[in-house]
Amino acid sequence: MIAVTVIPVLKDNYAYLIRSSDGVTAVVDPGDAGPVIKALEREGLTLDYILNTHHHGDHTAGNKDLKTRYGAIVLAPGAERDRIASSDQGLKDGELFMLGKDEMRCIETPGHTAGALCYYFPESKTLFTGDTLFLMGCGRLFEGTPAQMYDSLSKIAALPDDTLIYCGHEYTLDLLDFCLTVEPDNPKLAERKAHEIKKRKQGEPTVPASLALEKQTNVFLRAKTLEQFTEYRRLMNDF
Ligand code: ZN
Ligand code: FE
Repeated sequence: MIAVTVIPVLKDNYAYLIRSSDGVTAVVDPGDAGPVIKALEREGLTLDYILNTHHHGDHTAGNKDLKTRYGAIVLAPGAERDRIASSDQGLKDGELFMLGKDEMRCIETPGHTAGALCYYFPESKTLFTGDTLFLMGCGRLFEGTPAQMYDSLSKIAALPDDTLIYCGHEYTLDLLDFCLTVEPDNPKLAERKAHEIKKRKQGEPTVPASLALEKQTNVFLRAKTLEQFTEYRRLMNDF
């Protein structure tokens, strides 16, 4: 089993420190090296790997400093490697990677960017989704079509319901308000809103959430057809 530490970076990004059961370390999406270094020092650790979900700067800007400081190996989506500074190795859809004794599976999820990857740890039932699936939402379609994103979200939805979702940004409350405009009578949404507001008031991140809860409340996962999904995505852009 892996252990995950949430590291707030930049304005509303999350990087994640992962420790494998045998002590191998990785950081997901270091948009800034400083807070990651602090988190490592607090726990007395060094860094073995960097995992980028996609090429955007708010997920990769810390690569270079962390690689220089720790000699960490930078793993990036294969299709975006040429756009990710300091990347050492490209990973592709379905590829298995051993983080120490813990198996990680790469799931290609185009839509937000053309080659975005989610990183899945089956035994720990943990998924890092970057800007593909947010709690209560999904990423903007910068490089992909609605059909690609719909397909990508379907791949995520097929994972076990008790999978824990760790996403790239703290957007949950804003996105939740959007979901309420689509499903104002969904009792699970009102319940979740109260719960997430409480967490934020206590200074806690809303991540992680279970895939089951997302399926009950995130309208982008609840869209029954591509047409419905496309309409939600369009409405969200103007929200
Ligand atoms: Zn992004
Ligand atoms: Fe982002």
